[in-house]
Amino acid sequence: MLTSQVVRPSYRPYLTRVARVARLSDSFLRVTFTGDDLDVFGDTGLDQRIKLLIPFLDGSVSDVGADDEESRIAGDWYARWRDLPNELRNPMRTYTVRAIREDDREIDVDFVCHGDTGPASAWVLRAMPGDEIVIIGPDVRSPNHREGVEFAPGAATRLLFVGDETAVPAVTSILETLPTHISASAILEVPHAGDALPVTTHDGVEVTWLAREGAETGSLLHPAVQAWCARRGFGGDDPDELSDIDVDFEVLWETPDSAPTDGFYAWVAGESSMVKTVRRHLVRECGVHRSQVAFMGYWRAGRSEGV
Ligand SMILES: Cc1cc2nc3c(=O)[nH]c(=O)nc-3n(C[C@H](O)[C@H](O)[C@H](O)COP(=O)(O)OP(=O)(O)OC[C@H]3O[C@@H](n4cnc5c(N)ncnc54)[C@H](O)[C@@H]3O)c2cc1C
Repeated sequence: MLTSQVVRPSYRPYLTRVARVARLSDSFLRVTFTGDDLDVFGDTGLDQRIKLLIPFLDGSVSDVGADDEESRIAGDWYARWRDLPNELRNPMRTYTVRAIREDDREIDVDFVCHGDTGPASAWVLRAMPGDEIVIIGPDVRSPNHREGVEFAPGAATRLLFVGDETAVPAVTSILETLPTHISASAILEVPHAGDALPVTTHDGVEVTWLAREGAETGSLLHPAVQAWCARRGFGGDDPDELSDIDVDFEVLWETPDSAPTDGFYAWVAGESSMVKTVRRHLVRECGVHRSQVAFMGYWRAGRSEGV
């Protein structure tokens, strides 16, 4: 029996439809999703991650209990999804909420278009208003609805963001919320100069866009971070211990256990080998303590998220 005292799980499935698709630039498409229940979608924003169950080519999405209140409260969507036979189990991919408008029951997700090599990227290229999709996202009525937000600067007042195009939705969302006493630098690598998206933030935030224009993914970020650290006099006088990570076999995801109590905080996300290189530079060469940096491998070149 359901009562008003139930503790809802942090995440639940939402049955949604595409309301609009807007091309932001050569590499980014913004999809606005609408759904009857999106008024209770978790409103934290920042780098809030969500999962999308990508529809099959015929548009179908299997039932994981999105419109079943008992199932949503039991939080059994993952077990239902996992137990589906292969041919009915929609590919699941991870994205960031770029904007939430609870009153309009809408959320925006900015997709990087990287061709038709992956189910998500292929889906977005043909997405049309009315297409159905299930989004696994936070439930604002859950006490744990901030789960899936990694940005945790604590009392830090000097921030550094490093990311490739897949991190642009998260970084731009965060930058738009920063209070004026926090200064920040964001170094963002994108495929083309036209992919530098507008960001509305305050004067203490500096955004540097690096356009690859055919160079290798991540290759512009390492030298840019080196130069940034050198300009600010970050030196390696007390390098932190660093275990090596094989990004072909392990997920590179290292976030501090507790938020910094003062000073500096860095947030780094994107292709895993780039994140690994920047991690090595910040921690080993610049002596930034790992309690001050979140490192997140968002994707791995040559590997599908589904493998
Ligand atoms: C927490 C989190 C938040 C994320 N937020 C976003 C977001 O808001 N927007 C967004 O676009 N992505 C985001 N990503 C990255 C996204 O999940 C991956 O790019 C994902 O692999 C895309 O799935 P797919 O089905 O298109 O490709 P997959 O089936 O996973 O991969 C197929 C092939 O495409 C390659 N590939 C995957 N992504 C890219 C890429 N971006 N460029 C070039 N090649 C690629 C893979 O290496 C593989 O060879 C996020 C990832 C995480 C973990």
